[in-house]
Amino acid sequence: MEFRDLKRQYQYLKSDMDLRIQEVIKQTNFIQGKQVAELEQQLAAYTGVKHCVSCANGTDALQLALMVWNIGEGDAVFVPDFTFFSSGEVVSAVNAVPVFVDIESDTYNIDCNSLEILIQRMIEKGRLRPKAIIAVDLFGQPADYRRLRKIAEKYQMYILEDAAQGFGGKIEDKMACSFGDISTTSFFPAKPLGCYGDGGAIFTDNDEWAALLKSYCVHGKGNSKYDNVRIGMNSRLDTLQAAILLAKFPAFSEKELDWMQKIAAKYTEQLKDVVKTPFVKEGFYSSWAQYTIQLSDKAVRDGLQTYLKEQGLPSAVYYQKPMHKQAAFEKNAYDDNDYPIANKLSETVLSLPFHPYMKEKEIILVTDTIKSYLRR
Ligand SMILES: *Cc1c(COP(=O)(O)O)cnc(C)c1O
Repeated sequence: MEFRDLKRQYQYLKSDMDLRIQEVIKQTNFIQGKQVAELEQQLAAYTGVKHCVSCANGTDALQLALMVWNIGEGDAVFVPDFTFFSSGEVVSAVNAVPVFVDIESDTYNIDCNSLEILIQRMIEKGRLRPKAIIAVDLFGQPADYRRLRKIAEKYQMYILEDAAQGFGGKIEDKMACSFGDISTTSFFPAKPLGCYGDGGAIFTDNDEWAALLKSYCVHGKGNSKYDNVRIGMNSRLDTLQAAILLAKFPAFSEKELDWMQKIAAKYTEQLKDVVKTPFVKEGFYSSWAQYTIQLSDKAVRDGLQTYLKEQGLPSAVYYQKPMHKQAAFEKNAYDDNDYPIANKLSETVLSLPFHPYMKEKEIILVTDTIKSYLRR
């Protein structure tokens, strides 16, 4: 069994996929071909955001947003403690300080009470300026943007939505990638909408920021790539990747998202009495980047993972180490007492095989194996 079966997806999409790839090779428009603009238009329309600017990956997308806001030395950016490394890495990369915030134990997203306490503590100390909040839509579920927006307004901070895992999710009818002042996503192959390599995109309604993003992505270009008016980077989405995403996007938006809701519901029906299953808030809709359960403690979690592996079933621990414990951030000297939930969850979570092409008997094989382990 595959953790996320991209081979099965390719078989399903093969005829259109092969045609689109061949088309790019025939046109040899490998950099900024027309497929890139076509994809950007489709994704902007889908998310309901005015501008979509594609780039090389989800990490660059986050960094480019911070560059547009001119965030740097002396600035603090608040980031959930439980996320992929990128969400914090980009803050240090622009010489600002990432301040990690504990998470909600049921949704895995940033905890707004802890966030406000840390913002106030920072204002009292007066050493750093609180500038932005990077809210992550972890495992596919949007963060609580209603509350986040109130906090951002109160303290005059920007919201950067990291929807690398959240593309396709929504709150009521409002789509992920539309909640931030700037929002980003990743097309890394295993993400909800993945390409066949690296890729990313940035979303904003702000015309000025969109123009700046397009410049920063291409060496800080002015009138052309050879007229350079600011220091930028080389961060573009390949035409081949755009073509692959154009082949995948209709299936993703019209079918795969629905299939994933059904697969998640089946998992939950089978597991709800034996482990803590995912909790999706009322009115929220997850894009199911991961289906993550919680076990009672680390020994049970690690034991279950080993047992699944022995039965040929893959699983993964997202995330083994909270951000504040990563050696790369050591010099920021975080207080471990600020992170009880992230510390606990890093020891108890386990993500199960999950993808839209999973068959019912495969789900049952996974859930029966989990049940037989827990009965021992
Ligand atoms: C994957 C991921 C990223 C980075 O995306 P890349 O395309 O791999 O650079 C950023 N944030 C989160 C939450 C992610 O899961």
